[in-house]
Amino acid sequence: MSGAHEEEVVAKFLDASSRGDEGQVTSLLSAVPSLLDRTCPRGWTALMLAARNGHLGMVQTLLRHGCDKSGVNSSGQSASDVAKFWGHKRVCVLLGEREEDGDGVGFENYFGAEPLDRLSAKRTDAAWLQDRKKHPDSVFLLFSDLSPMLHRDQQGVQHLCQLDYEAVKDLLEKPDCVLIFLGVEKRRRSTTGREGASGEPPAWFAISGEEDGAALLGRCPHGEHECSFATAPHRDLLNLSDEDAGVLAPARALLAWHRRYAFCSTCGSATISEEGGHKRTCRKQQCPSNKGIHNTCYPRTDPVVIMLVVHPDGNQCLLGRKSIFPAGMFSCLAGFVEPGETLEAAARREVCEESGVRVGAVRYVSCQPWPMPSQLMIGCLCVAMTTDISVDRSEIEDARWFPRRQVTEALLGGGSRPGPGPVQSGLVLPPKQTIAHQLLRNWISMVANL
Ligand code: ZN
Ligand code: MG
Repeated sequence: MSGAHEEEVVAKFLDASSRGDEGQVTSLLSAVPSLLDRTCPRGWTALMLAARNGHLGMVQTLLRHGCDKSGVNSSGQSASDVAKFWGHKRVCVLLGEREEDGDGVGFENYFGAEPLDRLSAKRTDAAWLQDRKKHPDSVFLLFSDLSPMLHRDQQGVQHLCQLDYEAVKDLLEKPDCVLIFLGVEKRRRSTTGREGASGEPPAWFAISGEEDGAALLGRCPHGEHECSFATAPHRDLLNLSDEDAGVLAPARALLAWHRRYAFCSTCGSATISEEGGHKRTCRKQQCPSNKGIHNTCYPRTDPVVIMLVVHPDGNQCLLGRKSIFPAGMFSCLAGFVEPGETLEAAARREVCEESGVRVGAVRYVSCQPWPMPSQLMIGCLCVAMTTDISVDRSEIEDARWFPRRQVTEALLGGGSRPGPGPVQSGLVLPPKQTIAHQLLRNWISMVANL
């Protein structure tokens, strides 16, 4: 091929990959197989472009032809970095960077994975629970002061420390020990050989130990020096694997509820834990809470709306900061949903109270369980109808419109791969484990073409 013609064919090939046109890509590859790993001037391969736009079939086609997965573009990003950045989880799975959630459905946000089947029907089966509790395959997560015991592996990655029945059976005998049945593993882990003769998948429990932390660490199978209890939940609990975070979310929210609801809110008598830790019943038989169904007996989930408000021009978004935030950090506005309020009304009210901006359309995007202690963060995209800002200083310190470009730079600068490229904009965004970060990424991804 002549130089100019060759350039033209490469551009055509990359464009077809970017659009997900499998027919054209296949025919171009059969004519010129060497196109497979060619790049555009910014170092993007066909695989990166397909990953950028979430074209699952295109990614499969390119992989089948044996393309190079490991190359990086001029910003130091591989195809899987690109897919991860844009939140194309199925593409990440294909590129071997991410395992599917147990049921293959996937999840949107950190704390949202469901690696366990909750088996809620078994919570009232006391005999079954007792049997699973004593089973040698069962997994116990030990908490002290609502912090899970964590194990740091040789690569320095933190995991929830998994104990067996023998390590905790004396704790379970103690009257103040709270035991929670979390569920059974959705996916069989044949490599660990933990299924046991019964063939039933392992059951997981969370327990709160009332011993002091040092004594509890002595029970750790890895040796007490390799394990620790998280000290700062908002920092330490954001660095787990997606699966561990998905187990931690219900465990911590339930334990926090048990700790604060030891007494009946109807009559003040003591309550006891029942149904595998998913209910607390008043001990006074005549208490009204023991007749009919009462929400005081069940664990709380507190709905919070969190909003990314887009400027009427479509190119700026509204972010605010609280005085407790680290320097330079701005995030999405958020607030608790009040009784008798729709999500849309809560979103409009909170934005108006905190910033003075009036919001029109409100659309649900995704949600995130936040077990500090038991919120459900409901992420929305909102369109502003007014642009003047008047900050309510009692709630937030500052609120401003930020241009799309500045947000994009801050997102790239905050990525896990330091590499060359990102421009320092001074704006710091919350970490990727937060739904605020994901809402921003979702907004940027709707139009930008990085
Ligand atoms: Zn009562
Ligand atoms: Mg508020």
